[in-house]
Amino acid sequence: MTEYDYLVIGGGSGGVATARRAAEYGAKVLLIESDRLGGTCVNVGCVPKKVMWYAASIADALRDAPGYGFTVAGHEFDWATLKQRRDAYIERLNGIYAGMVQKAGVDLVHGFAHFVDPHTVDVTGHHFRARHIVIATGGRPNVPPIPGAELGISSDGFFGLEQQPRRVAVVGSGYIAVELAGVFNALGSEVTMLVRGDVLLRPFDALVREELMSQMQDNGVELRLHTQAKEITRNADGSLKVALDDGSSIEVDCLLWAIGRHPNTDRLELDAAGVELGEGGVIPTDAFQTTNVPHIHAIGDITGQAELTPVAIAAGRRLAARLFRDQPDSKLEYHTIPSVIFSHPPIGTVGLSEDQARKEHAEVKVYTTRFTAMYNAMTEHRPKTAMKLVCAGPEERIVGCHVIGDGADEMLQGFAVAIRMGATKADFDDTIAIHPTSAEEMVTMR
Ligand code: FAD
Ligand code: NDP
Repeated sequence: MTEYDYLVIGGGSGGVATARRAAEYGAKVLLIESDRLGGTCVNVGCVPKKVMWYAASIADALRDAPGYGFTVAGHEFDWATLKQRRDAYIERLNGIYAGMVQKAGVDLVHGFAHFVDPHTVDVTGHHFRARHIVIATGGRPNVPPIPGAELGISSDGFFGLEQQPRRVAVVGSGYIAVELAGVFNALGSEVTMLVRGDVLLRPFDALVREELMSQMQDNGVELRLHTQAKEITRNADGSLKVALDDGSSIEVDCLLWAIGRHPNTDRLELDAAGVELGEGGVIPTDAFQTTNVPHIHAIGDITGQAELTPVAIAAGRRLAARLFRDQPDSKLEYHTIPSVIFSHPPIGTVGLSEDQARKEHAEVKVYTTRFTAMYNAMTEHRPKTAMKLVCAGPEERIVGCHVIGDGADEMLQGFAVAIRMGATKADFDDTIAIHPTSAEEMVTMR
């Protein structure tokens, strides 16, 4: 049996980051990964999704090009070529990850880990012991328990599609549903979104939510609100019949489930280690990422908090610093986490929505703007860009910032720094605008 200082279960965003950092601090580290290095983000998440988003953005640019005098005739899009090139890129990244892990001096074992006792983990019959263990096993997509659900695909299946489906039903209304519906739509599929409630992106600020719904509809996405799929059956021609709860049905070539994810805790045999689970199978931790067992920690999606790659990475790095670099206070603050939804157009958001701010603060002032970006002055398609600053207290500290429109994805990071530092509306107003941009509206709102 091999003894380690630090045993990391899961080689995704959080696991790789914490393993490398701990090794850098001198710890003897073992990383265990059952599938491909890089986890969800690299293989079936952020990275291949962003490649598809870029492809969809090129389609948008081709649509807009005639407004700038271009004749764009005879161009074709081949999904299979893009998939092949995207897969090759991901394979290169897998290799880069393996190289980084090796270079850091981290031992890597391929296989599925489960606990044997609080300090020991089994991987295909081999036992490994460690002083500290971190669980970074992420999650996987939910599929509802309805007849024929297996005929649909999840986001994992989306990245396996060899051909572009002509007609798609996307079930759900969160990040993945709006992002992948937007990609399909921009690349030319007919998209119907089946939304159980009455809005997309329910937890987000109403301004970006409503603008997105209106723009997705303008782009040709059919939104069926208050609608749930009841049963899926395959037609003789291979297409799918989706029976809906209002008694009607739709015919599609592909159905995508995007209804949330659940944590990979079920086969870890956590009982053997005494680790307690929270609601929905997540692993609750204290503010320092430690579970109810003092030497067993958890980071990333498995903890059910802010399921984003940079969050998993930051939590993992801070944990490594606390355990192996004598930084006892090192921990991640889970507030004011910026996030971008790669919809069409993209959304950038940080801090509180207006509704949340009104619940948390006695005095709230909101500034909004809605305009046609200069780029769209020349194009036939004229979507609006919209922004909102949510300010609290007499000093008008900015507690929320929400943007939808081209460039929102790249715009938000800098504003997130300022907001985290406690910027007020007056600080924004004092900042000289950069002209001509959409971002300048952020410092000129009245
Ligand atoms: P993961 O990256 O999921 O890694 C967990 C790893 O553990 C996996 O490799 C798994 O194989 C392995 N594993 C599981 N069980 C075991 C076991 N018992 N033994 C050994 N190995 C095991 N986030 C963003 O910030 N930006 C985005 O644009 C973005 N886009 C996304 C798009 C999609 C379609 C999806 C699904 C997610 C997206 N995310 C995005 C979320 C992001 O991917 C996750 O938050 C992030 O990957 C979480 O990292 P993690 O380390 O917690 O888990
Ligand atoms: P989300 O939590 O964003 O959304 C899940 C959605 O599923 C909700 O809108 C919910 O609707 C709906 N839903 C749940 N159950 C059902 C059901 N039975 N039938 C119909 N709809 C249902 O989860 P995702 O799976 O989209 O993404 C998982 C996480 O991954 C995200 O929370 C995010 O943290 C991360 N991610 C980040 C991205 C980024 O940073 N750009 C991109 C993609 C994912 P309701 O509103 O009614 O509850």
